[in-house]
Amino acid sequence: MYYILAIILAALLSSCAQPHVLYQYSSFNALLEGVYDGALTVGELKSHGDLGLGTFNALDGEMILVNSNVYQIKGDGTVYAVDDSVETPFAAAVFFNPKKSFTVEDGISCEQLQKKILQIVPSKNIFYAIKIEGDFKHIRARAVRAQRKPYPRLIDAAKDQGEFDFNNISGTIAGFYVPENFGGLSVSGVHIHFISDDRKSGGHLLSCTVSRARVEVDYLTDFFLELPKSGDLYGKDIGLINKHEADIIEKGR
Ligand code: ZN
Repeated sequence: MYYILAIILAALLSSCAQPHVLYQYSSFNALLEGVYDGALTVGELKSHGDLGLGTFNALDGEMILVNSNVYQIKGDGTVYAVDDSVETPFAAAVFFNPKKSFTVEDGISCEQLQKKILQIVPSKNIFYAIKIEGDFKHIRARAVRAQRKPYPRLIDAAKDQGEFDFNNISGTIAGFYVPENFGGLSVSGVHIHFISDDRKSGGHLLSCTVSRARVEVDYLTDFFLELPKSGDLYGKDIGLINKHEADIIEKGR
């Protein structure tokens, strides 16, 4: 009896220890305007979550955080495990605690899968963390390339991005759904990154076709935004979201 109580207490304590808050460093609008250097380390980001995404200082590739490990997919397609001391100008993370899960086996596209996710969740007006693990017939991904100062705006930096096609590949997709009215603060809609099981391929997901995958969705109603304490952000003229530019950058259209 005491043994069972101890297990329940331990479970309660561990769930209390990890805040269930979507943490974000800086804003997507700042990134759009070319603020590519930040002071948040990967180690600090990992103290806010075990699943997430972002980029690295100088816009040096795409970041994916899965199972507390951070990977960098560079513009040439190479993938690296990232040290805790590496810094990011924009990233988001959460301690992933899925509320809903389902499997798909019928070769649907990621676009269809995203619609399916939005059909099963309670509202389009809260945040979600998404994790999709499985086998994919095809993945199209991109990775931005490291930039030199003076930094160009993101719409110009993205013209030089690397784009990759992977066929019959197993891996994990991780990221977030953000309601449209928060576009600019964050990337609105479904924003997801990919890493292969062998950790050799990945990137910001542009499209995919699923062979067989398990989809997990976490519901998020708490959001914590941390802005840089100094740096390029302070002198920039950052306005409202440019939806046209954001769509070209995030969806490749
Ligand atoms: Zn991305």
